[in-house]
Amino acid sequence: MIASKMHVKKNDLVMVVNGKEKGKSGRILRVLPEKEKVIIEKINFIKRHARPHGKQRQGGILEKEAPLHISNVMLLCEKCNKPVRIGHRMMEGSKKARYCRKCGEIFDK
Ligand SMILES: [Zn+2]
Repeated sequence: MIASKMHVKKNDLVMVVNGKEKGKSGRILRVLPEKEKVIIEKINFIKRHARPHGKQRQGGILEKEAPLHISNVMLLCEKCNKPVRIGHRMMEGSKKARYCRKCGEIFDK
């Protein structure tokens, strides 16, 4: 059985549980499976100096979300309103769904 290390996926609501962004939550915009990282909306902004080139009118400071390692994020259960441990459950048609181990809420509907 191949177990994916990625416990989160795009559009998941997650909370950062480690590092300088600890306690913040947001939606996952992108998953980078090969790096085991995720990009979360409005979290872990880094400032970048953009150089003017091509069509861009001018350079300046660009703020962009930097990826966070998945070990630093946990799925946020909207029912429990806190980051929770997830379990896996087989659904109809042998679809695998993640659920909240606390309240049983299923995340993959
Ligand atoms: Zn829950």
